Amino acid sequence: MKNFFIPFIVAVLSFLVTMFIFKQIEKRTYNEKFIELRYEENESLTYYEAISAYKTLDEQHNEAKLLTYGKTDSGKPLNLFVISKTGNFSPENLRERGFRVVMVNNGIHPGDPCGIDASLKFARDVLGQKDNLWEFMDSTILCIVPIYNVGGSLDQSPYNRANQNGPKMQGFRANARYLDLNRDFAPMDSKNAQSFAQMFHHWKPNLLIDTHTTNGADYQYVMTLIPNHWLELPPMLGNYYDEVMEPYLYKAMEKSGYDMIPYVSPMGQTPESGLEQWVNSPRYTTGYGRMFNTITLMTESHMFKPFRDRVLATYEFINATLEFTHENGAMLNRLKDESDNHTKHQKEFVLQWERDSSKFEMLSFKGYEAEHIKSEVTGDERLRYRRDLPFVKDVPYYRHYNPVLTITKPDYYILPQAWYEVAHRLSINDVKMEPLPSDTIMEVEAYYIEDYKTRMRPYNGRYLHYDIEVRKEMQSVQFFKGDFIIHTNQLVNEFIVEMLEPQAYDSYFTWGFFNSVLQRKEYFSPYVFEDYAKQMLDNNADLRNEFERKKAIDKEFASNNYAQLNFLYERSPFFHKGFRRYPIFRSVTSNNN
Ligand SMILES: [Zn+2]
Repeated sequence: MKNFFIPFIVAVLSFLVTMFIFKQIEKRTYNEKFIELRYEENESLTYYEAISAYKTLDEQHNEAKLLTYGKTDSGKPLNLFVISKTGNFSPENLRERGFRVVMVNNGIHPGDPCGIDASLKFARDVLGQKDNLWEFMDSTILCIVPIYNVGGSLDQSPYNRANQNGPKMQGFRANARYLDLNRDFAPMDSKNAQSFAQMFHHWKPNLLIDTHTTNGADYQYVMTLIPNHWLELPPMLGNYYDEVMEPYLYKAMEKSGYDMIPYVSPMGQTPESGLEQWVNSPRYTTGYGRMFNTITLMTESHMFKPFRDRVLATYEFINATLEFTHENGAMLNRLKDESDNHTKHQKEFVLQWERDSSKFEMLSFKGYEAEHIKSEVTGDERLRYRRDLPFVKDVPYYRHYNPVLTITKPDYYILPQAWYEVAHRLSINDVKMEPLPSDTIMEVEAYYIEDYKTRMRPYNGRYLHYDIEVRKEMQSVQFFKGDFIIHTNQLVNEFIVEMLEPQAYDSYFTWGFFNSVLQRKEYFSPYVFEDYAKQMLDNNADLRNEFERKKAIDKEFASNNYAQLNFLYERSPFFHKGFRRYPIFRSVTSNNN
């Protein structure tokens, strides 16, 4: 027995010693991986530090996971860090159990990185069960995009922001494809946006917060807010946000010591001229989220305030939204459901708004006196804010809008499969599309693009159209097996209509997805067409009258024989119907039109 016992003891002891050493090594690895937040020293986290910090949290906590949703243009993945107290990470299941979802998007502009640091601090505090943060997670899921614009955040420099007070190094505004991602939510030309869409629709957040730092005027506030306008959400959700949630957020921020004000977009040169609230078109985060009845809030901390304060103010805002969600989450879920149902049955959609400058409210504003002095650089007048002369003044706040273009939805749209870039974007945005089972001719409503203007220079990679005028025409159109029927009884109707109606502010047409139909493909030789043109006039008295009338009143036309032949060619069967015809069709068979 003795002979066996001694080696046994030795084995047990060496096992324990080995375990101890392993534990020490493990501890050291953990400590090495622990990334210090350095916002107090005017430094922001790099991309690698942020991801490494979230990986560590994922390893340490069963209630947290760092997920991946496809790629970004940089080749690196789009990450999402999720905190779920029950350890359940299935969004469908969590929604069924009444959980609500708050999503925070950071680093869309890596030059404004305060949210990157604020979110990591917040995630650590939640998982460290600081104060009542852990309690907020009882029925709320927190989703954090550590850094959305990965490519831009890898382009670090102390010179990426000319007028900003830190941090020492900043990322660049555009992504790896030189796209501004906060203009790319409509065209979705970046992989970042396409991956974001899949992530967004997987989690279907109640609230989406997009964190920024702003430039512009000088004033006393660290934090400003670009919210959804109440008009651009279904009434039950818009009114609730405006009357209940927004006042709560302003009060909570005041209590935190970081007073907040609506985003300072002055009507004139300084804020005293009045501020305006915007409606948010789909290219922006705020415009994208609201199309899916997600209340979307853009925080804009102020460029002159110390980086530390911008981080902490953003932290307090995230805290305020979670506190609100904790207290009112059941209501938020109910209103989201009611809004989705509203959108599903909604018949009319506003495509364009115009601000009503006759209506305004007064807003108490903490600013600085402004003065104009002589510039020592240009010799001209320059603007200067006097921080030694702070004031509180009432300024007009313009936030009333009237609809200027409203359309009635069709029963369904028909999208020929040839437009696969559009079909792809619809499908990643949760749009249900039914492929036609066989070739078929259908009687549909077609739009002709009667007039449009195009910007002279590219905007985020595309030449945008504007001032688009259309004419409708009923036509028999040949469709093919596999072309898509898109019914307008969907939860994502607002998205369908705003992207597919050509006159909408950020439609696919606006963004140049259908430019090929704007170029005529077939022409005629005048000397050959002459004979046919004569026959047309001989056989059609109405046409001849129209032709003669035009010649009589339009001098230029009367003196241009090519224009006259072209007038007849355009009215002949040789003229192809597809020229300037918008290639998505509307079916309006039922009585809703
Ligand atoms: Zn920004």
